[in-house]
Parts: sequence; structure tokens; C-alpha cells
Amino acid sequence: MMLRIFSLSLLILLGSCGGSQEPAAAGGASAPQKVYKWRMVTTWPKNLPGMGIAPETMAKKIKTMSNGRLEIKVYGAGEIVPPLEVFEAVSQGTVQMGHGAAYYWKGKVPVAQFFTAMPFGLTAQEMNGWLFHGGGMELWRELYAKYNLVPFAGGNTGVQMAGWFNREINSLEDIKGMKMRIPGLGGEVFNRAGGTSVNLPGGEIFTSMQTGVIDATEWVGPYNDLAFGLHQVAKYYYYPGWQEPGPNLEMIVNKEAWEELPDDLKAIVENASLAVNADLLAEYTARNNAALRELVDVHGVELRQLPADVLSEIRNISYAMTEEIVDPNDELAKRIYDSYKTYRDGVLAYHEISERAYINARAAK
Ligand code: CA
Repeated sequence: MMLRIFSLSLLILLGSCGGSQEPAAAGGASAPQKVYKWRMVTTWPKNLPGMGIAPETMAKKIKTMSNGRLEIKVYGAGEIVPPLEVFEAVSQGTVQMGHGAAYYWKGKVPVAQFFTAMPFGLTAQEMNGWLFHGGGMELWRELYAKYNLVPFAGGNTGVQMAGWFNREINSLEDIKGMKMRIPGLGGEVFNRAGGTSVNLPGGEIFTSMQTGVIDATEWVGPYNDLAFGLHQVAKYYYYPGWQEPGPNLEMIVNKEAWEELPDDLKAIVENASLAVNADLLAEYTARNNAALRELVDVHGVELRQLPADVLSEIRNISYAMTEEIVDPNDELAKRIYDSYKTYRDGVLAYHEISERAYINARAAK
């Protein structure tokens, strides 16, 4: 106890020596600064590489940057609330923070999906452009304010894989009647294409495949799929991940908890989110290929590309459904869609003559 009191005094002393702008309390000594202790729940299994570690990294950065004034304890899926109840738990203030993906809440907030990934929509780079310099973040904040939440970008996996199948996909006929774990609007598109989608949290995928509850699944990409051992329950690994070309993960904060924070801690949380958002994409970019090589070379996974005509049909369904989820009587939903579509059309045109032209040039024989 004495040691703690001593350490605290030392911290306060160091704080005042460091040129702190905190007003001095009566008597000339600095007032002790309030320590905030928060809990963060996540939709991810504890310690899942990449997205499961990202909230832990965020909590560590926030603790260091705030000199211990904001301590966040991170809980994996199911430790406090089930993975698909993260939104409610943070909204109601059961906990102060959450980490997950906005499309998990599509049943409650259909347009939330625009802030994760749309099938045949934006890549990670394009998504970050919309959020931070294209008006997306302001719209996301406006939407989530209705649910007592403040949203932040929480990382991106880059283009995912189409998923794991036990039979080859040669035409749309092959997915008729197939039960697949595929969340978000991608799942709705899959339904219209003749399949049956299921929204399962990550931690339930392996067992559901093993016991035949589902016939196929998508999860993320080689880095995470290898960690889950999905090659043990399916033979064919299909690409590209049309359903999630650049899913933006979310970090959400309860609005009352957020408003209690002084401005410097708010800036720390915001900047920790930006740092983790960039870092997670870099991690997936660096790790995916080695994991894919292991899946193919060591585990004998059959890598397949979805046929062009299947992709073309799914793309047409995707574009129609992207518009259909927008309630024409919901003014905010319309503004979100208009902003997204205007940005998407513009960035896609520009990326034809930049990203695609360059990648084609690099690949030319
Ligand atoms: Ca996925």
C-alpha cells in the first residue's frame, strides 16, 4: 500500500515536472488526476491472431499514452457477453467499450453494414479514404449516436477469401441449398443466389463445419483461417472474397463514458484507434501469404478461383441489394448511401487508372 501511495505521488510529481498544464490545486501541489477503468468486450475469441489481439494492443497503447490514466481490460467473446451482444452491452453501458464489426448488427441497423464491408464494394484503402476524408466517419457517428455509441475504425483485414467448401463451385447451381456461414450483406446476396446464409461468430465456425451444421464457411483469409484449422474441415479454398473486399472493424465507446473523458484522453483513444487501424492491415498484408503457402504446401488445400460467370452474377445481385437495404423513408440512411455511392463511383474510376493499371503493368509478361 505504501509503495502504491509512493508510486502515485511520484507519478504526480513527474507529471508536474513534465510541464503539465493541469491547474495547480490550492497549496501549490497538482491535483491527483482521475484514473478511468474501463472494460472492453469483443466479438473475437480471446487471443485470435490479428483482430483478436488488436483490441489488446489498443488498450496497451492507451494505457501508455495516458500515463495509466485510462486503463482498459479486454474480454474475449463470451467472457462477459456473447459475441453478438457486444453492440447492446456497450450501448446500454454494461461495459464502456467494444470491438467487433458493424455488419454483425444488420438485423437492428441495416445501414451499419456500409461501415464494415459491402459485397463488391470498397477495398481497405478505399474504405479508409471514405471514412477519414470522404465524409464516412461523420455519418457513422451520426448513425451510432442514436444508439448511445461513439464509433471508431478498429482495423481492416484487406481482401478476404471467398471461403471453404467441400465441393467445387462450377456454376451458381452448385450453391443451391448450400448452408454457409457468411455474415453481412454478403449473406443476403448468397441467399438470393440460392444458398442459405448463417451468421455465426468466429468461435463457432469450426465445430459447426465439423458437425455438418453448415456446409461451407467464409472467415477471413489465410492468416486467421489457418489459426482456426479450417483446412481440417473443408477441402477447397476459394478466392476472391467478393463478400468482404476490405472490412473495416469497429471500436465502439458508450456515449456517456466518452463524454466523461477529458479532451486529452479523447484524443488518445482516437489516435490509438488510428494506429491500430493502420497496423492491423499491415499485419494481414505481411502474414497472409506465408499462411496460404502453409495451407497449400503443407496441408494440401485445393486453392480455386470462383468462375468469372459466377462472380459476375453475384456482382449484379450485390449492386442491386446494396441499394435495397436503404429504407427510402429513412433520411439518414439515404444520406449514407448517397455519400457511399458517390465516393465509390469516383474512387473506382480513379483506381482503374492507378491501382489496377499499375498491378496489370507489374504483372505483364
Ligand atoms: Ca469474413
